[in-house]
Amino acid sequence: MMRSTRGSERVQPSQAILRGLAPDGGLYVPETFPEFPMETITALADMPYESRALQILSRFLPDFTEEELKEAIHGAYGTGFDDARIAPLVKLDDATYALELWHGPTLAFKDMALQLLPYLLMLSAKKNGEKREIFILVATSGDTGKAALEGFLDVPGTRCAVFYPQDGVSRAQRLQMVTTGGRNTHVIAVRGNFDDAQSGVKQIFGSNEFASVMNEQGRVLSSANSINFGRLVPQIVYYFSAYADLIKTGQIQPGEEVNFCVPTGNFGDILAADYARRAGLPVGRLICASNTNKVLTDFIETGVYDISNRPFYKTVAPSMDILISSNLERLIFTLTGNDPLCTADLMRQLSSEKRYQIDGEMLRRLQAVYACGYADEKALEDEISRRWHENNYLMDTHTAVASAVLRKYVERTGDTRKHVIVSTASPYKFGPAVLRSIGALDVDTMDDFECCVKLSALTGTREPDVIKNLPGLPVRHDMVCDRDKMSEALIEMLKTR
Ligand SMILES: *Cc1c(COP(=O)(O)O)cnc(C)c1O
Repeated sequence: MMRSTRGSERVQPSQAILRGLAPDGGLYVPETFPEFPMETITALADMPYESRALQILSRFLPDFTEEELKEAIHGAYGTGFDDARIAPLVKLDDATYALELWHGPTLAFKDMALQLLPYLLMLSAKKNGEKREIFILVATSGDTGKAALEGFLDVPGTRCAVFYPQDGVSRAQRLQMVTTGGRNTHVIAVRGNFDDAQSGVKQIFGSNEFASVMNEQGRVLSSANSINFGRLVPQIVYYFSAYADLIKTGQIQPGEEVNFCVPTGNFGDILAADYARRAGLPVGRLICASNTNKVLTDFIETGVYDISNRPFYKTVAPSMDILISSNLERLIFTLTGNDPLCTADLMRQLSSEKRYQIDGEMLRRLQAVYACGYADEKALEDEISRRWHENNYLMDTHTAVASAVLRKYVERTGDTRKHVIVSTASPYKFGPAVLRSIGALDVDTMDDFECCVKLSALTGTREPDVIKNLPGLPVRHDMVCDRDKMSEALIEMLKTR
């Protein structure tokens, strides 16, 4: 069963996935964790990714049948990934590995969850007698929008609409979205910034009038946001998978502890690693890596989460430019000893005072598992250069944050365990910054696509087809709306398609 971090109501996993957020405003967490004995983990070594996923997911989602999950997993990972291993583990040096999570259709780790979520949602709807079409609304600053569109593309019984800020995304990101095919996808530009798009979507979710219009049309709104347990649970799988690969290649003995260093924004990815640990994966340290927006580093070091007076930096690792890490609430709940009142109280403090502090016992529990660090722009660009020149490995800006933080962590602690860097995006998704990091001097004279061509020529790495083909694809979505007319725009659009 699942329960809310802010209340005592218990629901089945399928209900938690269908709802997204609990009615009391909390996030759904597993009431108890499955336990995977070492034999089971070792046995994963000889399985392909889909079978590994089935082993893990069936224990976290007990109200889904094996048959259902098997089909869903095959739908998610059977096609659309450019590497048959799905989440390959690459050795960088004697003690360090990169877990590449960007071989899906949009070249970032969001695909790992958003390829599976639509299937989990459809099954959840069926189990809970929901017959209406599931209508997913997303506000995006770039990456999540495209990953959601790809995930829901032509999935029967679903529809997906993405709002993006008209001038707030890169050319490549915009093209990725507006060239999306399929019969059930919608993309709308908003005259405003990301906050406008985000608050517009929140307003639509809160509107009874809009809900009743949708209901008349046989539709119900839902969210693909990372607070949905259905986005968290597919991420647990790849931590087990990485460990199984280390056993398979003889890099570790079964039972040996491994550290994971995770580039963190909303705290979803690293929390999935923690859930894997709690289900029996031998994890040493979870190293939380931040960019210049280092609110989490400060929190893990001091126990104070403080966003008052904190400037918001726009960095070259934009998917980590976040000050309110929404999934942290799930960890807070655990640190309180599963106390919903205490959790709700801390979250209230965060919204009213923009700050909270955990007590000494909670801080001790936090630091027993988590280490942390941050890398600024120069540190991450130096790290890209160093990994390229010393290890012949090309990494994106987000992965470089983790790599730089890990390097400092090892220097500081002398920790001799094996380390896995979670690699969250293809370097070609952030071509200009990566190209500049490896020493090109003419980046400012080129657009994103020219940078990617040059990156490929200079490094001999392969430019992914989805980037290469993007400028030639037909634009299929050209609707633009004012920020206070988003629901009208949606209703208009539903008439025509
Ligand atoms: C979303 C994202 C992250 C941050 O992941 P969280 O789960 O939000 O912590 C890191 N890197 C990339 C490339 C991302 O898209």
